[in-house]
Amino acid sequence: MKPEVLQQLATEFGSPLYVYDAEKIAFQYNRLQNAFSKVERFKVHYAVKALSNVSVLKYLKSLGSGLDTVSLQEVQLGLHAGVAPNDIIYTPNGVSMEEIEEVAQLGVQINIDNLSILEQFGTKHPNIPVCIRINPHVMAGGNANISVGHIDSKFGISIHQLPHILRIIENTKMHINGIHMHTGSDILDVEVFLYAAEILFETAKNFTALDFIDFGSGFKVPYKKGDIETNVEEFGRKLTKRFLTFEKEYGRPLTLAFEPGKFLVSEAGYFLAKVNVVKQTTSTVFAGIDSGFNHLIRPMLYGSQHHIENISNPKGKERYYSVVGYICETDTFASNRRITEIHEGDILCFRNAGAYCFSMASNYNSRLKPAEVLWKDGKGHLIRERETFDDILKNQVMIEV
Ligand SMILES: *Cc1c(COP(=O)(O)O)cnc(C)c1O
Repeated sequence: MKPEVLQQLATEFGSPLYVYDAEKIAFQYNRLQNAFSKVERFKVHYAVKALSNVSVLKYLKSLGSGLDTVSLQEVQLGLHAGVAPNDIIYTPNGVSMEEIEEVAQLGVQINIDNLSILEQFGTKHPNIPVCIRINPHVMAGGNANISVGHIDSKFGISIHQLPHILRIIENTKMHINGIHMHTGSDILDVEVFLYAAEILFETAKNFTALDFIDFGSGFKVPYKKGDIETNVEEFGRKLTKRFLTFEKEYGRPLTLAFEPGKFLVSEAGYFLAKVNVVKQTTSTVFAGIDSGFNHLIRPMLYGSQHHIENISNPKGKERYYSVVGYICETDTFASNRRITEIHEGDILCFRNAGAYCFSMASNYNSRLKPAEVLWKDGKGHLIRERETFDDILKNQVMIEV
């Protein structure tokens, strides 16, 4: 999006502000669809946890997307946005049997990732079809916290426990209609992904009545200059070829499914914050903004680098700044970053603010969460109001003391 447009939105809706570009979301969605256009039954389930605003969910539904959810509440958000239950897959980790049953009652596709629940669920509900999340133990993921396929990972049922899975199915007569893997965010390499896919194909042969194979996500998007991104087109060509061969071997039509979050919304998002103070110390120039890791935690949590530009002075001379937040502990967005000259009152724009940004925001320091705007058809639509002090007090109970 153009700096002038973003600047205008910051004036209209105030700061800090999240802005999402609908056109970019559609572009990414269509890119993925096109990469797999030769697969007759191809389905994208957008991973709600990346950005869960109901207007964004509704928009993705209008593009043809289903949803991937990890909690009862995400399922409820999806249903509220008008997504059909059978277009939602539920892939929780470590949740109670009760929650899984509640989601199953809603008609949503269940995906089970541990043997204990698989056995309990199969015994009680042998007629509800279930997908199984396999851990193929392929090491992937850009950060130890988002890499979920390694040997000690808590995610999925280990491929080495396949005999145990098959025994449970035989004993309970439960119906397995899908198998799934999700080895982590930010998989760099198409070949690594294809290797994991091979393991999933091998596994699939043990199940006689599958309707779909879900390859999770892991698409890497560029955050800073020089970052590698997943070559989706090459990946599409290679996996399509392999999938069609497997489908023939398997002897039943299969749906190829993915559940990207980041890939669909990361680059569509812009976070706008105003510079409150420029502070020169002996060694550093700090730009302190009207936000902090309560609104955008990825740099502090994962060491992520979000590109930052000064949209109030895009043509200015570049200088080095450390961009910091107002939270009362270390709260650094960027250290010694080259940014065009910053004046107090300028609006800084953080790129890649669509995925895992607002959805991870909190009220720490009793701060209000920002507003969200969807930029669509040349117009900014408010899709979440800025919080007020009432939201901070909501649910608090002041007792007599
Ligand atoms: C988080 C998650 C995703 C989405 O991952 P991205 O890296 O955002 O694409 C997909 N599937 C499952 C099961 C997840 O937990």
